[in-house]
Order: sequence, then structure tokens, then C-alpha cells
Amino acid sequence: MSIYDMTFEQLEEYFITKGEKKFKAVQVYDWLYKKRVKSFTEMTNVKKEVLSLLEKDFKMQPLTILKKLEGKDVCKYLFELEDGNKIEAVLMKHDYGNSLCVSTEIGCNMGCAFCESGRKKKERNLEVHEMVLQILAVEEDLKIRISHVVLMGIGEPFDNYDNVISFIHVINSGKGIDIGARHITVSTCGVVPKIKEFIKDGKQVNLAVSLHAPNDALRNELMPINKAYPLKPLMEVLKEYSKVTNRRLTFEYIMLDGINDTTECALELAQLTEGMNCYINLIPYNETSYIHYKKSSPENIMKFYDTLKKNHVSVTIRREFGSKLMAACGQLRSNYEEEK
Ligand code: SAH
Repeated sequence: MSIYDMTFEQLEEYFITKGEKKFKAVQVYDWLYKKRVKSFTEMTNVKKEVLSLLEKDFKMQPLTILKKLEGKDVCKYLFELEDGNKIEAVLMKHDYGNSLCVSTEIGCNMGCAFCESGRKKKERNLEVHEMVLQILAVEEDLKIRISHVVLMGIGEPFDNYDNVISFIHVINSGKGIDIGARHITVSTCGVVPKIKEFIKDGKQVNLAVSLHAPNDALRNELMPINKAYPLKPLMEVLKEYSKVTNRRLTFEYIMLDGINDTTECALELAQLTEGMNCYINLIPYNETSYIHYKKSSPENIMKFYDTLKKNHVSVTIRREFGSKLMAACGQLRSNYEEEK
């Protein structure tokens, strides 16, 4: 396994089982995540025997940057993994900091009708290190610090639950990269049992839910997950989330021309979310070459926004990053493969 798979607590545990002081974990985390060394031999304050132990038990390989597309406030990466699989990450520069959108799986099984990622079925989960290394690779390449992480790249985070939770532990650790829980956002299509677990495990991490439709008929059409977990149980568990965590929930709502952007939909959406501690993020749809949906016109988006506002819904419109850079979920990978 990779050393970047290890949460701080697991590394402490590892040293204890090897008969070493658990304090070694502090040193190793410091070398990995503060000093960012590339090999165990660079960990000069760690004694030889311990280094050979680490070398025997762990790999330390970085990700390979296969392709990079740079725009004004956005930089999109295609990485190659050790087994030849490819994953994407997108760095966005906001006025409040640098946010990285990381992938959590290779492909995705959720099959949302509008989404490029789902055109490729899930091949496997990403390992913890493959998520952690997306952050390290981008920070090194751009010589920046990433302040925010959103799990909104390829994959459904709650279909790779355990690795995603460990990943959050790794990047949240004060001994390591130290990204605050409130600066981490997990986005899910609505896997209800996992949301229940997340209420217990997620601490202060933000939750975003891809809603995209205000009723079951339309949501069934757009998102197959809705057949397993329709709006009623979804909304119930989200109300529980708000009650237990006291945190404000985000609903993502992509705007598809003529599909979910009507005034009736806006009114239904206002009713659905009434009384919830949430806000709705309207996302201009990023058109892709292989899917027939079109993005709503700016006028329709504004009209939808106004209707929600009038009905006392907190709502924002997401700034469009990198649509010219194929920043929509899964686009870079599928275009790369199409080119080959
Ligand atoms: N599986 C998770 C996270 C990955 S997708 C989820 O469903 O939330 C991140 C967000 O991008 C989701 O809201 C998804 O619906 C949205 N999305 C997918 N394709 C898109 C596109 N072409 N344009 C805009 N948003 C898209």
C-alpha cells in the first residue's frame, strides 16, 4: 500500500505494532505533508531501521500529470494512475482561496442522464492515496496552497464511502495538510443510508446534494438513484442531517433547457425545501458532445432564480468555470480517450 493511504491514527497504530514510539507518526506526517519529501531516505531525523521498515511496507509514488489545461482562474488536470487508469481534478481560484475538485472513483455507476462521467461504468474505487495525491500534485505543480476541497469530480463519494472518510481524515489532520473540515465539501447524488452514516462520521464537513429535479417523476428520469431513494426518504434524512449537525446544506441544481428550468419547477422546488436549513446552488449546465441536453438560457436561469427568491429560498448561481476547458465532470478523460 501507499504511505499516503494512512490516516494519522493508522500510522500511530502501525508504529505501535512494530514496537516503535507512536510519535514517529508525527515525524513522518511532517515529512510527507509539511516538508513534502519524495522519498523515505529524505526523512533525515528518522532512524535507519525505521526507514527500512517503511520502505518495506509502503510505496510513495506520486501521480503522473498526463495533461493540463490552464485558463484564467481554472486549471484542469488529467492524471495517470499506476495501473494506467486516468482521473481528473480541477483547480479553481476564488477570491476566498484555491479550491480543488477531486475525483473519488474511476468511472461512476450512478448513471445520471446528463453526466459525462457516468458514460463510463465504474471500474474501481479510488484508493485513499489516489485522492490525497491529487492535492499534492496540484499544489506542487502550481506552487500554491489549496484551501478548499470539493468531492465533486468523477465518481460518487458515497459509493466509495470508507476510502472517502479516510481521505477526509488524512487531509483534515492538523499534523498534515490541515484543511479545515468546514473547507471540505462532499457532494452526493443522494445515497440515503450513507448520508445516515455521514451524519455520524462527517463532523463539520459540508454536505452538498445533487437534486436537479423537484419531483420524483422528473428525478427518476434524470437520476436513476432516485428509484432506490426517492425524494421523501432523501428529504427526511437531510432534515435529520440539519438537526444533528446544525450545518447548512447545499442543494445543487443544474439548469437543463426545457427540462427542469420552468417556473412550475421553481415553485415546486421552493415547496420541497421549505423550512429547511439549506441553500440552492443553480448550476449552468456544461454541455458535452455526447449528451443531448442543452443549458438553460441566462434569462431562464435569472427567471428561475427570481421565482425562488420571491418564495424566500436562499439561492445562488454558480460561476461558470472552465466550460471552454471541458471542466464538466468526466469531459477531459472522455475527450482524451476519444482522441486516442
Ligand atoms: N456523484 C456526486 C459528485 C460528482 S458530480 C454527485 O452526484 O453529487 C458533481 C456535480 O456536477 C453534481 O451535482 C453533478 O450532477 C454535476 N454535473 C454532472 N455533469 C454536469 C455537467 N455537464 N454540467 C454541470 N454539472 C454537472
